[in-house]
Amino acid sequence: MYNKKRHKLLSWILLLAVVLTILAPLSVSQAAGVGDVLGALTAPTAPSSDGGGILNTLFSFLFDKILGPILNIFGGGSTTTGTPPVKLPPSPSGGGPVIDSGVLRGKVIVVDPGHGGSNPGAVSNGTHESDNNLAVSLKLREKLRQAGAKVVMTRETDRTVAQAGSSLGQELQARVDIAEQNNADMFVSIHSNSNPDPSIAGAMTFFPSGKSSKLALEVQSGIVRETASVDKGTQPATFYVLRNTTMPSILVEMGFVTNAAEAAKLQNDAYRNRIAQGVFTGIVKYFQVN
Ligand SMILES: [Zn+2]
Repeated sequence: MYNKKRHKLLSWILLLAVVLTILAPLSVSQAAGVGDVLGALTAPTAPSSDGGGILNTLFSFLFDKILGPILNIFGGGSTTTGTPPVKLPPSPSGGGPVIDSGVLRGKVIVVDPGHGGSNPGAVSNGTHESDNNLAVSLKLREKLRQAGAKVVMTRETDRTVAQAGSSLGQELQARVDIAEQNNADMFVSIHSNSNPDPSIAGAMTFFPSGKSSKLALEVQSGIVRETASVDKGTQPATFYVLRNTTMPSILVEMGFVTNAAEAAKLQNDAYRNRIAQGVFTGIVKYFQVN
């Protein structure tokens, strides 16, 4: 009888956790409170509060192993309209001037082109997110290398990072592992966005709650300055690769493949180069003051 009651209670907690886990990442802006609570609960570094141990474990398990990876791979911050995200301060340089990229010398930077192989990410208007992500990432690699950084790519071709047959969670963990094993100074994940509303366009940058917000602001500012893209700002997010990397980390959503004009731009070599340049200058500026 006691066991039965307890079982019922656990079922309710499980159900609540599932609902919260689904709601939070899908409506970061609409329900920021829920997102923050969930992010805090599921963050690996979050101290477990008194009596919250089991619930924390439950949240972490549900998010890390089941829903987080699925939402991260297939959702990837696609529903981020609503209340306006954090807006950028005016650029101190105004754009244009040559920056001293010497601060990158010796820095280990992991560049992570999202998706790949059997997982193309968002597909729309004749383009695969995974292809755009890789093309921009390879350009970013060259810029970082020329400035003296040691760049580690999670993938350099159209493939998954984890071995074939791996779960979504394993695929994302494989990317985290590369960053951790290389003692990276920075982790930069490159993605393209999607939204059911084809009129939505623009770039945005996500960061793990509690850290990397300055990096996100610099990179977002760099992208907008270089591409004149719609500025959708920066936002904290609970994506797997952001929550589970210990170094400064960001996830860039370069633009929406579901917007016809932006999809065309994302496939344009010159535009891809401008995005890469924007991310690059943002990274340089971050290291200049951090
Ligand atoms: Zn993505």
